[in-house]
Amino acid sequence: MPNPASSPPRLPSVDSLLHSPACQPLAERYGRDALLATLRQLLDDLRDPVHLGQLDAVELTAQVLAGRAGERLANQHASRVRRVFNLTGTVLHTNLGRALLPEEAIEAVHQAARYPLNLEFDLQTGKRGDRDDLIEGLIRELTGAEAVTVVNNNAAAVLLALNSLGARKEGIISRGELIEIGGAFRSPDIMARAGVKLHEVGTTNRTHARDYEAAIGPRSGLLMRVHTSNYSIQGFTAQVPTVELAQLAHRHGLPLLEDLGSGSLLDLTRWGLPAEPTVLQALIDGADIVTFSGDKLLGGPQAGLIVGRKDLIARIKKNPLKRALRVDKLTLAALEAVLGLYRDPERLAERLPTLRLLTRPQADILAQAERLRPLLAQVLGDGWAVAALPALSMIGSGSQPVARLPSAALCLTPHAPKRLRGRRLQGLEAALRALPIPVLGRINDDALWLDLRQLDDEMAWLTQLDQLQGEGRAG
Ligand SMILES: *Cc1c(COP(=O)(O)O)cnc(C)c1O
Repeated sequence: MPNPASSPPRLPSVDSLLHSPACQPLAERYGRDALLATLRQLLDDLRDPVHLGQLDAVELTAQVLAGRAGERLANQHASRVRRVFNLTGTVLHTNLGRALLPEEAIEAVHQAARYPLNLEFDLQTGKRGDRDDLIEGLIRELTGAEAVTVVNNNAAAVLLALNSLGARKEGIISRGELIEIGGAFRSPDIMARAGVKLHEVGTTNRTHARDYEAAIGPRSGLLMRVHTSNYSIQGFTAQVPTVELAQLAHRHGLPLLEDLGSGSLLDLTRWGLPAEPTVLQALIDGADIVTFSGDKLLGGPQAGLIVGRKDLIARIKKNPLKRALRVDKLTLAALEAVLGLYRDPERLAERLPTLRLLTRPQADILAQAERLRPLLAQVLGDGWAVAALPALSMIGSGSQPVARLPSAALCLTPHAPKRLRGRRLQGLEAALRALPIPVLGRINDDALWLDLRQLDDEMAWLTQLDQLQGEGRAG
Protein backbone atom coordinates (compact mmCIF):
# COMPACT_ATOMS: atom_id res chain seq x y z
CA MET A 1 0.00 0.00 0.00
CA PRO A 2 1.42 3.38 -0.89
CA ASN A 3 1.51 5.86 1.95
CA PRO A 4 -1.35 8.26 1.14
CA ALA A 5 0.60 11.23 2.56
CA SER A 6 3.31 10.75 -0.05
CA SER A 7 1.13 10.46 -3.16
CA PRO A 8 0.63 13.77 -4.92
CA PRO A 9 -2.90 15.18 -4.63
CA ARG A 10 -4.91 15.31 -7.80
CA LEU A 11 -4.78 18.95 -8.82
CA PRO A 12 -6.56 20.61 -11.72
CA SER A 13 -4.41 21.99 -14.54
CA VAL A 14 -3.46 25.64 -14.55
CA ASP A 15 -5.37 26.07 -17.76
CA SER A 16 -8.63 24.61 -16.53
CA LEU A 17 -8.38 26.72 -13.38
CA LEU A 18 -7.67 29.87 -15.33
CA HIS A 19 -10.86 29.35 -17.33
CA SER A 20 -13.00 28.16 -14.43
CA PRO A 21 -15.92 30.40 -13.47
CA ALA A 22 -14.51 30.62 -9.94
CA CYS A 23 -11.43 32.44 -11.23
CA GLN A 24 -13.15 34.92 -13.52
CA PRO A 25 -13.67 37.67 -10.92
CA LEU A 26 -9.96 37.42 -10.08
CA ALA A 27 -8.96 37.74 -13.74
CA GLU A 28 -11.09 40.84 -14.02
CA ARG A 29 -9.77 42.41 -10.87
CA TYR A 30 -6.05 41.67 -11.12
CA GLY A 31 -5.52 40.86 -14.81
CA ARG A 32 -4.91 37.50 -16.49
CA ASP A 33 -1.12 37.64 -16.23
CA ALA A 34 -1.06 38.18 -12.48
CA LEU A 35 -3.72 35.48 -11.98
CA LEU A 36 -1.82 32.99 -14.13
CA ALA A 37 1.44 33.57 -12.26
CA THR A 38 -0.31 33.20 -8.91
CA LEU A 39 -2.12 30.00 -9.93
CA ARG A 40 1.16 28.46 -11.17
CA GLN A 41 2.86 29.34 -7.91
CA LEU A 42 -0.05 28.03 -5.87
CA LEU A 43 -0.12 24.68 -7.68
CA ASP A 44 3.66 24.35 -7.41
CA ASP A 45 3.46 24.99 -3.70
CA LEU A 46 0.69 22.42 -3.29
CA ARG A 47 2.78 19.77 -5.08
CA ASP A 48 5.60 20.43 -2.67
CA PRO A 49 5.81 17.39 -0.33
CA VAL A 50 5.83 19.60 2.79
CA HIS A 51 2.23 20.61 2.02
CA LEU A 52 0.91 17.15 1.28
CA GLY A 53 0.15 16.15 4.84
CA GLN A 54 -1.94 19.26 5.42
CA LEU A 55 -4.04 18.77 2.32
CA ASP A 56 -5.66 15.46 3.14
CA ALA A 57 -8.74 16.94 4.66
CA VAL A 58 -9.36 19.57 2.00
CA GLU A 59 -10.96 18.87 -1.30
CA LEU A 60 -9.11 20.98 -3.80
CA THR A 61 -11.97 22.14 -5.96
CA ALA A 62 -11.59 25.06 -8.33
CA GLN A 63 -13.61 27.04 -5.81
CA VAL A 64 -11.14 26.36 -2.98
CA LEU A 65 -8.11 27.03 -5.16
CA ALA A 66 -9.59 30.28 -6.45
CA GLY A 67 -10.15 31.33 -2.85
CA ARG A 68 -6.50 30.73 -2.02
CA ALA A 69 -5.29 32.48 -5.15
CA GLY A 70 -7.56 35.40 -4.25
CA GLU A 71 -5.96 35.71 -0.81
CA ARG A 72 -2.48 35.72 -2.32
CA LEU A 73 -3.40 38.31 -4.94
CA ALA A 74 -5.08 40.58 -2.40
CA ASN A 75 -1.97 40.38 -0.27
CA GLN A 76 0.36 41.14 -3.17
CA HIS A 77 -1.75 44.08 -4.30
CA ALA A 78 -2.28 45.64 -0.88
CA SER A 79 -0.54 48.98 -0.59
CA ARG A 80 2.68 48.87 1.41
CA VAL A 81 2.26 52.55 2.23
CA ARG A 82 -0.25 52.48 5.07
CA ARG A 83 -1.98 55.08 7.12
CA VAL A 84 -1.39 54.64 10.87
CA PHE A 85 -2.56 56.25 14.11
CA ASN A 86 0.40 58.00 15.70
CA LEU A 87 -0.34 57.72 19.42
CA THR A 88 3.34 57.61 20.36
CA GLY A 89 3.27 61.07 21.87
CA THR A 90 5.89 62.31 19.40
CA VAL A 91 4.23 64.81 17.09
CA LEU A 92 6.87 65.23 14.37
CA HIS A 93 7.82 61.54 14.17
CA THR A 94 10.44 61.03 11.45
CA ASN A 95 9.58 57.34 11.04
CA LEU A 96 5.90 58.18 10.67
CA GLY A 97 6.28 60.89 8.06
CA ARG A 98 6.63 64.04 10.23
CA ALA A 99 4.30 66.97 9.45
CA LEU A 100 0.72 66.46 8.19
CA LEU A 101 -0.21 68.85 5.44
CA PRO A 102 -3.00 71.41 5.75
CA GLU A 103 -6.00 71.13 3.41
CA GLU A 104 -4.72 74.07 1.36
CA ALA A 105 -1.51 72.17 0.59
CA ILE A 106 -3.32 68.92 -0.16
CA GLU A 107 -5.48 70.78 -2.66
CA ALA A 108 -2.42 72.39 -4.23
CA VAL A 109 -0.76 68.96 -4.58
CA HIS A 110 -3.92 67.65 -6.28
CA GLN A 111 -3.87 70.43 -8.83
CA ALA A 112 -0.14 70.10 -9.46
CA ALA A 113 -0.48 66.35 -9.93
CA ARG A 114 -3.45 66.61 -12.29
CA TYR A 115 -2.56 69.49 -14.61
CA PRO A 116 0.45 71.00 -16.38
CA LEU A 117 1.78 74.02 -14.49
CA ASN A 118 4.25 76.91 -14.76
CA LEU A 119 6.96 75.05 -12.84
CA GLU A 120 9.80 76.63 -14.82
CA PHE A 121 7.90 78.95 -17.08
CA ASP A 122 7.49 82.69 -16.65
CA LEU A 123 3.90 83.46 -17.59
CA GLN A 124 4.65 87.18 -17.95
CA THR A 125 7.51 86.96 -20.42
CA GLY A 126 6.66 83.59 -21.92
CA LYS A 127 10.24 82.56 -21.34
CA ARG A 128 11.88 79.87 -19.26
CA GLY A 129 11.54 80.46 -15.51
CA ASP A 130 13.09 79.17 -12.32
CA ARG A 131 11.17 76.91 -9.94
CA ASP A 132 12.58 78.66 -6.87
CA ASP A 133 10.90 81.88 -8.02
CA LEU A 134 7.52 80.35 -7.20
CA ILE A 135 8.15 80.76 -3.48
CA GLU A 136 10.80 83.47 -3.39
CA GLY A 137 8.34 86.31 -2.79
CA LEU A 138 6.76 84.51 0.17
CA ILE A 139 10.12 83.64 1.69
CA ARG A 140 11.30 87.24 1.37
CA GLU A 141 8.13 88.46 3.03
CA LEU A 142 8.24 85.92 5.88
CA THR A 143 11.95 85.78 6.69
CA GLY A 144 13.45 88.97 5.33
CA ALA A 145 15.89 86.88 3.26
CA GLU A 146 17.04 88.27 -0.08
CA ALA A 147 16.79 84.97 -1.91
CA VAL A 148 15.94 81.29 -1.54
CA THR A 149 16.58 77.94 -3.13
CA VAL A 150 14.78 74.72 -2.23
CA VAL A 151 16.14 71.17 -2.19
CA ASN A 152 15.01 67.73 -1.13
CA ASN A 153 15.55 68.04 2.62
CA ASN A 154 17.65 69.95 5.13
CA ALA A 155 20.50 67.42 4.93
CA ALA A 156 20.70 68.19 1.20
CA ALA A 157 20.51 71.91 1.97
CA VAL A 158 23.51 71.71 4.29
CA LEU A 159 25.46 69.56 1.83
CA LEU A 160 24.74 71.88 -1.09
CA ALA A 161 25.46 75.10 0.80
CA LEU A 162 28.73 73.75 2.21
CA ASN A 163 29.89 72.42 -1.14
CA SER A 164 28.99 75.61 -2.99
CA LEU A 165 30.63 78.01 -0.55
CA GLY A 166 33.45 76.06 1.06
CA ALA A 167 34.75 73.29 -1.23
CA ARG A 168 38.51 72.73 -0.94
CA LYS A 169 38.62 75.19 1.95
CA GLU A 170 38.21 74.92 5.70
CA GLY A 171 34.91 75.10 7.52
CA ILE A 172 35.30 76.35 11.06
CA ILE A 173 32.85 74.94 13.59
CA SER A 174 32.64 74.64 17.37
CA ARG A 175 33.23 71.22 18.95
CA GLY A 176 29.99 71.80 20.85
CA GLU A 177 28.08 71.75 17.55
CA LEU A 178 29.41 68.56 15.94
CA ILE A 179 26.08 66.80 15.92
CA GLU A 180 24.59 63.52 14.82
CA ILE A 181 20.91 63.45 13.91
CA GLY A 182 19.53 59.91 13.75
CA GLY A 183 20.91 57.53 11.16
CA ALA A 184 23.83 58.65 9.12
CA PHE A 185 23.61 62.43 9.33
CA ARG A 186 26.66 63.72 11.20
CA SER A 187 27.87 67.21 10.59
CA PRO A 188 31.56 66.20 10.24
CA ASP A 189 30.66 63.54 7.63
CA ILE A 190 28.44 65.88 5.64
CA MET A 191 31.24 68.43 5.65
CA ALA A 192 33.70 65.84 4.38
CA ARG A 193 31.32 64.74 1.62
CA ALA A 194 30.81 68.37 0.68
CA GLY A 195 34.57 68.66 0.15
CA VAL A 196 34.97 71.06 3.07
CA LYS A 197 37.84 70.44 5.46
CA LEU A 198 36.57 70.39 9.03
CA HIS A 199 38.38 72.77 11.35
CA GLU A 200 36.93 72.23 14.81
CA VAL A 201 37.51 74.77 17.53
CA GLY A 202 36.84 75.14 21.27
CA THR A 203 35.60 72.33 23.50
CA THR A 204 32.36 70.42 23.88
CA ASN A 205 30.96 72.75 26.52
CA ARG A 206 32.77 76.04 25.88
CA THR A 207 33.83 77.84 22.73
CA HIS A 208 34.96 81.48 22.67
CA ALA A 209 35.34 84.12 19.98
CA ARG A 210 39.12 83.87 20.34
CA ASP A 211 38.93 80.15 19.40
CA TYR A 212 37.33 81.03 16.07
CA GLU A 213 39.66 84.00 15.61
CA ALA A 214 42.75 81.81 16.07
CA ALA A 215 41.48 79.30 13.50
CA ILE A 216 40.88 81.81 10.71
CA GLY A 217 43.61 81.83 8.08
CA PRO A 218 44.24 81.78 4.33
CA ARG A 219 42.61 78.35 3.92
CA SER A 220 39.37 79.34 5.66
CA GLY A 221 36.22 79.17 3.53
CA LEU A 222 33.37 79.72 5.96
CA LEU A 223 32.20 79.70 9.55
CA MET A 224 29.45 77.29 10.43
CA ARG A 225 26.91 77.27 13.21
CA VAL A 226 24.71 74.23 13.82
CA HIS A 227 21.65 74.46 16.01
CA THR A 228 22.11 71.64 18.52
CA SER A 229 18.57 70.53 18.04
CA ASN A 230 18.52 67.06 19.56
CA TYR A 231 20.51 67.51 22.75
CA SER A 232 21.28 70.25 25.21
CA ILE A 233 24.54 71.15 26.87
CA GLN A 234 23.93 72.56 30.31
CA GLY A 235 26.07 73.75 33.19
CA PHE A 236 29.46 75.41 32.63
CA THR A 237 28.95 76.43 29.02
CA ALA A 238 29.85 79.22 26.64
CA GLN A 239 28.79 79.86 23.09
CA VAL A 240 29.56 82.86 20.91
CA PRO A 241 26.29 84.64 20.09
CA THR A 242 25.40 84.61 16.39
CA VAL A 243 25.66 88.41 16.20
CA GLU A 244 29.26 88.27 17.35
CA LEU A 245 30.12 85.24 15.24
CA ALA A 246 28.75 86.98 12.14
CA GLN A 247 30.78 90.13 12.82
CA LEU A 248 33.88 88.03 13.24
CA ALA A 249 33.25 86.15 9.98
CA HIS A 250 32.55 89.37 8.07
CA ARG A 251 35.70 91.11 9.40
CA HIS A 252 37.62 88.33 7.66
CA GLY A 253 35.48 88.33 4.54
CA LEU A 254 33.97 84.92 5.30
CA PRO A 255 30.31 83.87 5.17
CA LEU A 256 28.52 82.50 8.23
CA LEU A 257 26.34 79.51 7.50
CA GLU A 258 23.73 78.49 10.04
CA ASP A 259 21.99 75.11 10.04
CA LEU A 260 18.86 75.80 12.08
CA GLY A 261 17.53 72.26 11.78
CA SER A 262 13.87 72.74 12.47
CA GLY A 263 13.87 76.47 12.55
CA SER A 264 10.62 78.31 12.76
CA LEU A 265 9.17 81.17 10.76
CA LEU A 266 7.39 82.63 13.78
CA ASP A 267 8.09 82.96 17.48
CA LEU A 268 6.37 79.87 18.90
CA THR A 269 6.16 81.28 22.41
CA ARG A 270 3.10 83.26 21.33
CA TRP A 271 1.33 79.88 21.36
CA GLY A 272 2.88 78.87 24.67
CA LEU A 273 5.39 76.55 23.00
CA PRO A 274 9.09 76.42 23.87
CA ALA A 275 11.19 79.04 22.09
CA GLU A 276 12.85 77.81 18.89
CA PRO A 277 15.22 80.08 16.96
CA THR A 278 13.49 81.81 14.06
CA VAL A 279 14.88 82.14 10.57
CA LEU A 280 14.22 85.87 10.69
CA GLN A 281 16.28 86.28 13.87
CA ALA A 282 19.20 84.24 12.51
CA LEU A 283 19.31 86.53 9.46
CA ILE A 284 18.96 89.68 11.57
CA ASP A 285 21.82 88.43 13.72
CA GLY A 286 23.94 88.31 10.59
CA ALA A 287 23.96 84.73 9.34
CA ASP A 288 24.59 84.91 5.58
CA ILE A 289 22.95 81.60 4.76
CA VAL A 290 20.39 79.77 6.88
CA THR A 291 19.13 76.23 6.20
CA PHE A 292 16.07 74.54 7.70
CA SER A 293 13.57 71.69 7.10
CA GLY A 294 10.19 71.97 5.42
CA ASP A 295 8.54 69.14 7.36
CA LYS A 296 9.59 69.89 10.92
CA LEU A 297 8.11 72.87 12.80
CA LEU A 298 7.30 74.63 9.53
CA GLY A 299 4.60 71.97 9.08
CA GLY A 300 5.00 71.47 5.33
CA PRO A 301 6.31 68.85 2.90
CA GLN A 302 9.76 67.29 3.11
CA ALA A 303 12.12 69.94 1.79
CA GLY A 304 15.27 71.81 2.68
CA LEU A 305 15.20 75.58 2.45
CA ILE A 306 18.35 77.60 1.88
CA VAL A 307 17.78 81.31 2.42
CA GLY A 308 19.99 84.37 2.72
CA ARG A 309 22.25 86.64 0.72
CA LYS A 310 21.42 86.95 -2.96
CA ASP A 311 25.01 86.61 -4.24
CA LEU A 312 25.59 83.46 -2.18
CA ILE A 313 22.26 81.92 -3.17
CA ALA A 314 23.21 82.60 -6.82
CA ARG A 315 26.44 80.64 -6.31
CA ILE A 316 24.53 77.81 -4.66
CA LYS A 317 22.06 77.66 -7.54
CA LYS A 318 24.87 77.39 -10.09
CA ASN A 319 26.28 74.28 -8.41
CA PRO A 320 25.54 71.22 -10.60
CA LEU A 321 24.56 69.38 -7.39
CA LYS A 322 21.52 71.65 -7.15
CA ARG A 323 20.04 69.86 -10.13
CA ALA A 324 20.53 66.52 -8.39
CA LEU A 325 18.94 67.72 -5.16
CA ARG A 326 16.08 69.90 -6.38
CA VAL A 327 12.45 69.36 -5.37
CA ASP A 328 9.59 68.26 -7.59
CA LYS A 329 6.43 70.11 -8.48
CA LEU A 330 4.28 68.43 -5.82
CA THR A 331 6.62 69.56 -3.06
CA LEU A 332 6.76 73.10 -4.37
CA ALA A 333 2.99 73.29 -4.68
CA ALA A 334 2.56 72.11 -1.09
CA LEU A 335 5.29 74.38 0.20
CA GLU A 336 3.81 77.47 -1.41
CA ALA A 337 0.41 76.70 0.11
CA VAL A 338 1.88 76.16 3.58
CA LEU A 339 3.96 79.34 3.44
CA GLY A 340 0.84 81.21 2.37
CA LEU A 341 -0.86 80.28 5.65
CA TYR A 342 1.92 82.02 7.59
CA ARG A 343 0.69 85.35 6.23
CA ASP A 344 -2.15 85.12 8.73
CA PRO A 345 -0.52 84.07 12.02
CA GLU A 346 -3.76 84.60 13.92
CA ARG A 347 -5.44 81.69 12.18
CA LEU A 348 -2.32 79.56 11.77
CA ALA A 349 -3.00 77.31 14.78
CA GLU A 350 -6.41 76.38 13.32
CA ARG A 351 -5.17 75.78 9.80
CA LEU A 352 -1.73 74.21 10.15
CA PRO A 353 -2.06 70.66 11.57
CA THR A 354 1.42 70.66 13.13
CA LEU A 355 0.71 73.79 15.12
CA ARG A 356 -2.83 72.69 15.94
CA LEU A 357 -1.56 69.37 17.34
CA LEU A 358 1.30 70.97 19.25
CA THR A 359 -1.01 73.49 20.91
CA ARG A 360 -3.92 71.16 21.78
CA PRO A 361 -4.82 71.94 25.38
CA GLN A 362 -4.23 69.16 27.90
CA ALA A 363 -7.78 69.54 29.26
CA ASP A 364 -9.18 68.66 25.81
CA ILE A 365 -7.00 65.61 25.45
CA LEU A 366 -7.78 64.42 28.97
CA ALA A 367 -11.52 64.80 28.34
CA GLN A 368 -11.12 62.72 25.19
CA ALA A 369 -9.19 60.05 27.10
CA GLU A 370 -11.91 59.89 29.77
CA ARG A 371 -14.58 59.58 27.11
CA LEU A 372 -12.79 56.73 25.31
CA ARG A 373 -11.59 54.90 28.41
CA PRO A 374 -14.73 52.83 29.12
CA LEU A 375 -15.04 51.81 25.46
CA LEU A 376 -11.50 50.47 25.32
CA ALA A 377 -11.85 48.84 28.75
CA GLN A 378 -14.93 46.98 27.55
CA VAL A 379 -13.20 45.70 24.43
CA LEU A 380 -10.11 44.53 26.31
CA GLY A 381 -12.08 42.80 29.09
CA ASP A 382 -10.93 41.97 32.62
CA GLY A 383 -7.36 41.16 31.55
CA TRP A 384 -6.44 44.84 31.47
CA ALA A 385 -6.69 47.95 33.59
CA VAL A 386 -7.40 50.98 31.43
CA ALA A 387 -6.81 54.45 32.89
CA ALA A 388 -7.07 57.98 31.49
CA LEU A 389 -3.96 59.75 32.77
CA PRO A 390 -1.95 62.91 32.21
CA ALA A 391 1.08 62.30 29.99
CA LEU A 392 3.85 64.25 28.31
CA SER A 393 4.26 64.51 24.54
CA MET A 394 7.34 65.55 22.63
CA ILE A 395 7.69 67.79 19.60
CA GLY A 396 10.06 65.33 17.90
CA SER A 397 12.38 65.57 14.90
CA GLY A 398 15.07 67.05 17.07
CA SER A 399 13.07 70.12 18.05
CA GLN A 400 13.45 71.01 21.70
CA PRO A 401 14.67 67.60 22.87
CA VAL A 402 14.12 68.35 26.53
CA ALA A 403 10.80 70.15 26.20
CA ARG A 404 7.61 68.26 27.08
CA LEU A 405 4.04 69.19 26.21
CA PRO A 406 1.36 68.41 28.84
CA SER A 407 -0.92 65.81 27.26
CA ALA A 408 -3.11 62.84 28.22
CA ALA A 409 -3.11 59.14 27.40
CA LEU A 410 -4.95 55.88 27.76
CA CYS A 411 -2.68 53.81 29.94
CA LEU A 412 -3.12 50.03 29.59
CA THR A 413 -1.74 47.72 32.29
CA PRO A 414 -2.14 43.94 32.14
CA HIS A 415 -3.56 42.16 35.18
CA ALA A 416 -0.71 39.68 35.38
CA PRO A 417 2.25 38.82 37.57
CA LYS A 418 5.16 41.13 36.90
CA ARG A 419 7.20 38.52 35.04
CA LEU A 420 4.42 37.96 32.49
CA ARG A 421 3.61 41.61 31.85
CA GLY A 422 6.26 42.18 29.18
CA ARG A 423 4.80 39.41 27.00
CA ARG A 424 1.23 40.62 27.45
CA LEU A 425 2.22 44.18 26.58
CA GLN A 426 4.08 43.08 23.48
CA GLY A 427 1.11 40.92 22.48
CA LEU A 428 -1.28 43.84 22.72
CA GLU A 429 1.15 46.14 20.96
CA ALA A 430 1.34 43.65 18.08
CA ALA A 431 -2.46 43.31 17.96
CA LEU A 432 -2.82 47.09 17.73
CA ARG A 433 -0.25 47.15 14.93
CA ALA A 434 -2.21 44.46 13.06
CA LEU A 435 -5.43 46.52 12.91
CA PRO A 436 -6.59 47.76 9.48
CA ILE A 437 -5.28 51.19 10.48
CA PRO A 438 -2.38 50.22 12.76
CA VAL A 439 -2.34 51.97 16.14
CA LEU A 440 1.12 52.86 17.46
CA GLY A 441 1.70 53.68 21.12
CA ARG A 442 4.66 53.29 23.42
CA ILE A 443 5.53 50.89 26.24
CA ASN A 444 6.79 52.57 29.38
CA ASP A 445 6.84 51.52 33.04
CA ASP A 446 5.05 48.18 32.49
CA ALA A 447 2.19 49.86 30.65
CA LEU A 448 1.18 50.60 27.08
CA TRP A 449 0.51 54.32 26.62
CA LEU A 450 -1.70 55.69 23.87
CA ASP A 451 -1.12 59.46 23.84
CA LEU A 452 -4.29 60.96 22.39
CA ARG A 453 -2.85 64.35 21.38
CA GLN A 454 -2.95 63.24 17.75
CA LEU A 455 -6.18 61.24 17.72
CA ASP A 456 -8.28 63.36 15.38
CA ASP A 457 -10.30 60.74 13.61
CA GLU A 458 -12.02 59.18 16.60
CA MET A 459 -14.66 57.39 14.52
CA ALA A 460 -12.13 55.48 12.41
CA TRP A 461 -10.27 54.56 15.57
CA LEU A 462 -13.39 53.35 17.37
CA THR A 463 -14.89 51.33 14.54
CA GLN A 464 -11.89 49.04 14.31
CA LEU A 465 -11.60 48.49 18.08
CA ASP A 466 -14.03 45.55 17.96
CA GLN A 467 -11.37 43.58 16.14
CA LEU A 468 -9.26 43.66 19.30
CA GLN A 469 -11.88 41.59 21.17
CA GLY A 470 -10.13 38.67 22.83
CA GLU A 471 -6.69 39.85 21.74
CA GLY A 472 -6.23 41.49 25.09
CA ARG A 473 -6.67 38.24 26.95
CA ALA A 474 -4.84 35.98 24.51
CA GLY A 475 -1.89 38.35 24.35
C1 LIG B 1 16.74 67.59 11.31
C2 LIG B 1 18.03 68.27 11.11
C3 LIG B 1 18.75 68.12 9.91
C4 LIG B 1 18.28 67.22 8.81
O1 LIG B 1 17.11 67.69 8.26
P1 LIG B 1 16.23 66.78 7.26
O2 LIG B 1 15.18 67.70 6.77
O3 LIG B 1 15.75 65.65 8.08
O4 LIG B 1 17.16 66.34 6.18
C5 LIG B 1 19.94 68.79 9.78
N1 LIG B 1 20.41 69.58 10.76
C6 LIG B 1 19.74 69.77 11.94
C7 LIG B 1 20.33 70.67 12.99
C8 LIG B 1 18.52 69.11 12.14
O5 LIG B 1 17.86 69.27 13.29
